[in-house]
Amino acid sequence: MISQVRKVITVALLGAAALTACGTREAPRSAPPPPSAPVSRPPTLAPGPAGLTPVFSHGPRTRGKVVALTFDADMTADQGPRAAAGERFDHPELIAALRTLKVPATVFMTGRWAEEYPVQARAIGRDPLFEIANHSYSHHAFAADCHGLPTLPADRMRADVERAYAAFRTVGVPDAMPYFRFPGGCYDRQALRAVSATGLTAVQWDVVGGDAFATDADAVARQVLDGVRPGSVVVLHCTRSAAPTTERALRRIVPELRAEGYRFVKVSELIGAAGERG
Ligand SMILES: [Zn+2]
Repeated sequence: MISQVRKVITVALLGAAALTACGTREAPRSAPPPPSAPVSRPPTLAPGPAGLTPVFSHGPRTRGKVVALTFDADMTADQGPRAAAGERFDHPELIAALRTLKVPATVFMTGRWAEEYPVQARAIGRDPLFEIANHSYSHHAFAADCHGLPTLPADRMRADVERAYAAFRTVGVPDAMPYFRFPGGCYDRQALRAVSATGLTAVQWDVVGGDAFATDADAVARQVLDGVRPGSVVVLHCTRSAAPTTERALRRIVPELRAEGYRFVKVSELIGAAGERG
């Protein structure tokens, strides 16, 4: 009986191997993946009018109480001397709090930040709780008059975005997302055209956390709690020197939103939902 079972299994395995080999030989690239296969490419939005970079600000309002917290890991290309003098552009306590609270999050990181904090960048990038997206290499502005940031010439914008991805790869971030947040959130038609060839989706927000240069964590928490609606994207910061209250605000925001029935998701989930029909 046992030998018969073994024989059946052996025949079945041989059959499977033959089918696999046959399929590989006869249909090398044309076979569609089965419906249950994991999605290998993150969802993106279709290009906008005239092929411009699409801009995403929030997810569907009618698909349940989900919210994406996003954290900009800001460091400008010329801030190296300040970091060397002891200024902290990272915020490890914030990342630790997200892990403790089990909150998925999207971190928009500058390439310069990844170079300054390679161990943290790699750890964030390899943690399935998080996804890393692109916040430029230099954190220079992609449009004029942007919060006092130096402005990048249009012909250097695409290279700046690609340099950030190169920095992520160098420090060991495996799969940075095809999402881009303009430094300062500033963009115009020229900027959307300049980065369109990258195929990225630009990600803005609909809720400003107001944590930049804030000193009152409760005020930040209130602003977020008042602003969040289903599908919201909240912009906060992962930069301790410029946003010192964010971790404390988070410890109030997370339980209160959960008590209201919200589930935290990454930006990719909202973009995927926005691209679905029905
Ligand atoms: Zn920024």
